[in-house]
Amino acid sequence: MIRGVTASPVTVLAGGVGGARFLQGVIDVVPPDRVVVIGNVGDDVEPHGLHVSPDLDTVLYTLTGWIDETQGWGVRGDTDRALERARELGADAWFWLGDLDIGLHLARTEALRRGEPLSAVTARLAERLGLPLRLIPATDDRLRTMIDTPDGEIEFQTYYVRHHHADRVTGIRFDGAELARPAPGVIEALRDAAAIVVAPSNPLISIAPILAVPDVRMLLASRSAPCVAVSPIVGGRALRGPAADMLESLGHEASPAGVAAIYAGLIDVLVIDERDADLAERVEAHGIRPVVADTIMRDAASRERLARAALDAAGAIA
Ligand code: GDP
Ligand code: CA
Repeated sequence: MIRGVTASPVTVLAGGVGGARFLQGVIDVVPPDRVVVIGNVGDDVEPHGLHVSPDLDTVLYTLTGWIDETQGWGVRGDTDRALERARELGADAWFWLGDLDIGLHLARTEALRRGEPLSAVTARLAERLGLPLRLIPATDDRLRTMIDTPDGEIEFQTYYVRHHHADRVTGIRFDGAELARPAPGVIEALRDAAAIVVAPSNPLISIAPILAVPDVRMLLASRSAPCVAVSPIVGGRALRGPAADMLESLGHEASPAGVAAIYAGLIDVLVIDERDADLAERVEAHGIRPVVADTIMRDAASRERLARAALDAAGAIA
């Protein structure tokens, strides 16, 4: 039951799979129409001229029931006939795109070509698909994550998908970030929030590109609402993806203490897993209050419990 509700939004910074699964829990705890998601566009890519926003789409598909739950991304049961045909005809089709998924990218690309901002397109796709919460890309401006490797700098999806995140990451840069402005609604979502939550998403490639928008970082640093993050690192490992290796290769510690160091000054509370309880003091050393919980999202009940722990720590629920 929800008590003490104000109209102020609960604002969640989220990447793809970890973010989307956490959001499933969040909307079991607070009414979805109170939830505003600020999404990552650093992963965006244009295979075959189609504008794909993988993290926004993962949130969109997960919260509208279209998601392929096993993969965590893409449309359940989707086929790849279009891509197969493209390959037969000689296209260099290394970025997997399902047939239904391509339909969404066609609609998005067409609207962007007409000059519509990404935030407006995203809002329309969300409405058509019945997304129960508000999803805003961090910026409408071009912002792309670039990965530095021993062989030079490559685009994010080349690193992630084409190279199966096998390269050693020696640096990360957010191309375009300096000039990126928050998309419409982002400033209000941070300024007027009852609580701000950083989902258990990759801090370096899902959350950092959002924070790379100068006004977003500034608003978070000067927030009046409590800000709570959930550690995506549990027992020294990422539950999926390259977060742990990436943290280490960039000189961070692959632990909640390393996550705390990255978020220092921007968050008030870090939810860490029970098996990392011994690191609580090291989190505290960064001026961040540790909250210990079961942070493994294995099913709907555990997602809801985790969301409740985070929102409770943020004072967003009674
Ligand atoms: P991506 O954009 O699809 O890579 O997804 P995110 O960045 O949103 O999420 C990836 C992160 O989520 C990884 O660092 C995982 O460790 C983390 N993650 C995935 N599942 C869980 C979970 O059940 N609990 C926690 N605490 N973190 C998780
Ligand atoms: Ca992502």
